[in-house]
Amino acid sequence: MSKKLLSVKELPKGDVLEAGTAILFETGDWRSDRPIFNKELCIDCKRCWLYCPDMSILLDENKKVSGIDYKHCKGCGICSFECPVKPNKAITMEKEVK
Ligand code: SF4
Ligand code: SF4
Repeated sequence: MSKKLLSVKELPKGDVLEAGTAILFETGDWRSDRPIFNKELCIDCKRCWLYCPDMSILLDENKKVSGIDYKHCKGCGICSFECPVKPNKAITMEKEVK
C-alpha cells in the first residue's frame, strides 16, 4: 500500500533561525581549501571583505584587511577570485592541511 503524500499546505513548517547565529558555530572545519592572505601585496580595496559570504575577512582597528577568520571561513575562494591584485593575488587558495 502506498503512503499518501502530503500537500504543500499539509507539510510542517521548517525552522527559521534568527540572523547572526552563525557566530555560535565554528564552520571552518568544513573547509577543504584555505585562503592565504599576503599583507605585502594587499592594496586594501576591501573587495574580499565585501564579497565574503561568511564575514570571514578580518579588519584591524584602522579598518584595514588584516587576515582571515579561519574559525568561520568555509574556503569557497570568492575572496581570492575577487582580489584584483595582479599578477599575484593578495589572497591565494591552498589545500587545507588537517
Ligand atoms: S574563502 Fe570564502 S569564506 Fe573564506 S574568507 Fe574567502 S570568501 Fe570568505
Ligand atoms: S581583495 Fe585583495 S587587495 Fe583587496 S583588500 Fe582583499 S586581499 Fe587586499
